[in-house]
Amino acid sequence: MPEKKLPAGLHLETLAVRAAVDKSQYGENSEALYLTSSFTQPDSATAARRFAGEEEGYIYSRFTNPTTASMEKRLAALEGMEDAIATSSGMSAILLLCMGLLKAGDHVVCSRSVFGSTIKLIGTEFGKFGVESSFVSQIDVGEWKAAIKPNTKLLFAETPTNPLADVCDIRALADIAHNAGALLAVDNCFCSPALQQPVKFGADIVVHSGTKYLDGQGRVVAGALVGGEQLIADKFIPVMRSAGMSLSPFNAWVVLKGMETLGIRMEAQSQRALELAKWLEGHPKIERVYYPGLKSHPQHELAMAQQSGRGGAVVSFDIKAADADHARKNAFHVVDSTQLLSVTANLGDVKTIITHPASTSHGRLTEQQRLAAGIRQNLVRVAVGLEHLEDLKADLLRGLDTLN
Ligand SMILES: *Cc1c(COP(=O)(O)O)cnc(C)c1O
Repeated sequence: MPEKKLPAGLHLETLAVRAAVDKSQYGENSEALYLTSSFTQPDSATAARRFAGEEEGYIYSRFTNPTTASMEKRLAALEGMEDAIATSSGMSAILLLCMGLLKAGDHVVCSRSVFGSTIKLIGTEFGKFGVESSFVSQIDVGEWKAAIKPNTKLLFAETPTNPLADVCDIRALADIAHNAGALLAVDNCFCSPALQQPVKFGADIVVHSGTKYLDGQGRVVAGALVGGEQLIADKFIPVMRSAGMSLSPFNAWVVLKGMETLGIRMEAQSQRALELAKWLEGHPKIERVYYPGLKSHPQHELAMAQQSGRGGAVVSFDIKAADADHARKNAFHVVDSTQLLSVTANLGDVKTIITHPASTSHGRLTEQQRLAAGIRQNLVRVAVGLEHLEDLKADLLRGLDTLN
């Protein structure tokens, strides 16, 4: 029976469950998991053509696998971009990005507030190979502009940031990049394409940690770059083929199935996060809440315009403390008094996670670096999942109500 072709003009929700490579001859309704390292070739001449890239066909799972291809196709569709390339983790997506686009003597401009390992990878590791980098303010567009040099090839942004939810203006950064003949890459982990499609604001490449909301259930580590077909074919596939930061087909399949529920999860988790943020803002033991969905957020309007009117699912807050001694003590008390929330540093799970950033995700920074980044000892981050809101509030109250 001939395969039904997907009609044109489908909506995001539809593509999230339908975009994939063609079914096998068995007509499986759920996408197949092709756990195979290599693919047999019908004959030597065909093999030669496929290895030379003259004919399409699967060869070896380091760079071609149908399950991984389905995940790439689905993610590209969700981001509204042409193509994607899956990687073994979010960090290896950024490794692939830098290996594909940069050489010794090139310069990168990056926000100072991006994921800690991203700063280390771009600043320290690529610095070893002669790539220059400048780290600038997340929110001051003027600093980005001033950092541009003749050798600037890449601008790297992440919005909103972890854990304080600072939002950068993607359109303004895209204009700066393009005027300089550089590309803009945006790490879209926190919103996912369900809330934010950076390409709509001029981004050239979208970076993902599939570990977070794309999988959405805390099962696998995965990553991807999303971009134009030509860019991926010319810059990233050759590096993937030689360097092999490949996503395993099994993990690709988990993320592929995770994306089917991305839209409803992001909607439901954002809704709970907004309710929780409003409630926390009114609590007498809370000094300040950081959440883009709140009117009190300094970039509320920009965030709402970029993020489909949603704040995302991560809420952070400073707990009141009488003095410096009590800052960490109070935060630990609230974290340790929970009986339901998961105490771990991940996010993007349907299980709500509570974290003390200053001693975990940002524990490797000096106190001075942490303060410069606005991360104080009394800060607590909650990555909101799918539990009932009243149960989440009750769990946080166990600690908040017993602070002394
Ligand atoms: C987690 C994360 C990464 C790294 O992803 P891994 O899959 O853990 O390698 C990169 N950027 C952001 C914003 C993240 O939250």
